[in-house]
Formats: sequence, structure tokens, C-alpha cells
Amino acid sequence: MARPAVYLDRDGVLNQEAGYIHQVEDLHLMSGVAQAVRQLNDAGLFCCLVSNQSGPARGYYPDAHVRALHQRLCRLLDAEAGARLDALYYCPHLSPPEGGTQAEFTRWTTWRKPNTGMLVAAAWEHDLDLSQSFMVGDKATDVDMAHNAGCVGILVQTGYGDRVLSGDYQHHTKPDYIATDLTAAVKWILQKKS
Ligand SMILES: [Mg+2]
Repeated sequence: MARPAVYLDRDGVLNQEAGYIHQVEDLHLMSGVAQAVRQLNDAGLFCCLVSNQSGPARGYYPDAHVRALHQRLCRLLDAEAGARLDALYYCPHLSPPEGGTQAEFTRWTTWRKPNTGMLVAAAWEHDLDLSQSFMVGDKATDVDMAHNAGCVGILVQTGYGDRVLSGDYQHHTKPDYIATDLTAAVKWILQKKS
């Protein structure tokens, strides 16, 4: 039987929002994040990263750099709390009007948020039930993607979250829950699942 998942955005949810991270060692976890992911692990909920990473399409750095950032992310989660991500999906592609310049990565794709491609691919590959799953993000496009796929959409106030809520960033959205940070989001998810 398909199982529920918790989909997690990366920047502004797990690690500090710092724009395009050009140096691997500049990726830093936010406080309490590793422990929160560990709680999801211990509850048996599938944890899946879903992240727009357009740096390769913009020519800022190679695709291998994104994978190196994710290796550091996983290493920090493990070192701090024995936490793990069960799967990692990211979209390195960007359309030409959005700013894609590198031919290899410049194209329209259903993987780019708020399209649902990453959620759907993960659901197929790992037998996940989207209607029973949660998406935690800090942008309106994260919440929109969740709703486009029939998931529960949670907005955290870290990263861009506060600016989304005040109307200073992106557009109005209606999250199913607003959490101060990932710790609060996980607390709410675990209450819902119990
Ligand atoms: Mg983000």
C-alpha cells in the first residue's frame, strides 16, 4: 500500500537561505532542523527533498556542485542528530524566459515548482500516497505545488516565509498550516498522523 511522505524544500527550510551557494562549506543547517528530520525518521515517515536548483541552468556552477551541496546537507543532518533524507529530488532546469542560458539545462520542465513533477516522480519511484502527504516550504510556490498535487501544504516562517505572509515576496497563498519553523511543522504533522 502506498505510504505517506513528508516532502521538504531545502533553502530556507533545512539550511539557511543564502541565495545561490557557491561554496559548499557555506551551506549551514538551521537550528533544530536535524532533530526535526530525525523525529520524522523515527515516526516512519518517508522524508523526500524537493528543490528547485537553477544554478546549473544559469551557468553559476555545474550540476556536480548541487550534488556536493546535498552530500554536505546529508552529512550535517546525520552528524547532528542521526537524521536522514530517504530521497532527494531537485530541478536543475530553467526555461529561456526564466533565465536559462546553459543549453544542457535550459528547457521547460514539469519538474520546476510550482509544477508537480518532482512530487509525482518520487511517488511513482517510492510508492508514496500524495493525498496523504505533506509538503513543507518557505515560498508560495512550495504551497502551490503541494496543492497542485493534492498534498497538504505547510508554510514555514523561516527563509522567505515571513515575507510571503506579509505580501513582500511572490504572491498570496493559502497554506493549510503556518509554522514558525520546521520543528513546529513536524510537531503539527506528527499530531495529524497520530
Ligand atoms: Mg526555499
